[in-house]
Amino acid sequence: MKPLIAITGASSGIGAATAQIFSEAGYPLLLMARRIERLQKMALPKSLSCEVDVTKPEEIRGALEIGREKYGQVDCLINNAGVMLLGQPWKQNESEWKAMIDVNILGVLYGIQAVLEEMVERKSGTIINISSLAGRKTFRRHAVYCATKFAVHALSEAIREEVSHFNVRVITIAPGAVETELISHTSSPEYQKEWWDGLGGILQPMDIAKTILFTYEQPQQVCLREIIITPTGQSG
Ligand code: NDP
Repeated sequence: MKPLIAITGASSGIGAATAQIFSEAGYPLLLMARRIERLQKMALPKSLSCEVDVTKPEEIRGALEIGREKYGQVDCLINNAGVMLLGQPWKQNESEWKAMIDVNILGVLYGIQAVLEEMVERKSGTIINISSLAGRKTFRRHAVYCATKFAVHALSEAIREEVSHFNVRVITIAPGAVETELISHTSSPEYQKEWWDGLGGILQPMDIAKTILFTYEQPQQVCLREIIITPTGQSG
């Protein structure tokens, strides 16, 4: 049997497409998100759906334990859950900053911590962190979102350096604009419109899912450390 793949934020957008493509490729899946009904509705074979808020490390650990009991150790964790709340730095409510920091940085770290030790011990495994083009360059209204995604690049690379000699891969995938629910959580309709109006093109979640599967299915000794993938028409 193929090894277990765990995906956070699997209830919509990139995470749901990633679940779909890994399922079609025959992998058992541990799907995590807060909206468990969405996970269950996908009804993927050989999959477990767990209600997980990634800001709560004990919930991630609990779900991973359920996954291990059924399908064995996690061979790949895809840290995909994320929130993007655009705002003006001098006006944005600090609760939105905290939400992004908690989900986009701490959520990723909690996931990594929950699987890394066993990967290091068995000298195999892959962690794929979904960052953003906003983790490589800055954009107006994106100050704190960019800060969190720059952090994802930094922590991924630092951890990769530390685990590379244990044959563990840490991969960062940084998409440009993708058509998902992400922007809909921004509280300002004006900034939502600005985001849509500024697009030179948009990728589909499946474009990113295919890239994730491609990086994972490279031989274990091949590590695609970082990939930036954007719509061809996106200039910024
Ligand atoms: P969606 O909003 O469609 O998906 C976000 C996912 O994250 C949902 O499944 C949501 O599940 C989950 N999530 C959010 N908060 C939490 C939480 N506290 N605990 C658990 N899960 C949570 O957006 P995308 O598919 O676009 O986003 C996926 C990743 O891609 C994010 O990291 C995002 O930053 C990144 N990205 C997206 C881009 C885009 O243009 N769309 C561009 C670059 C990067 P639920 O609400 O059910 O918990």
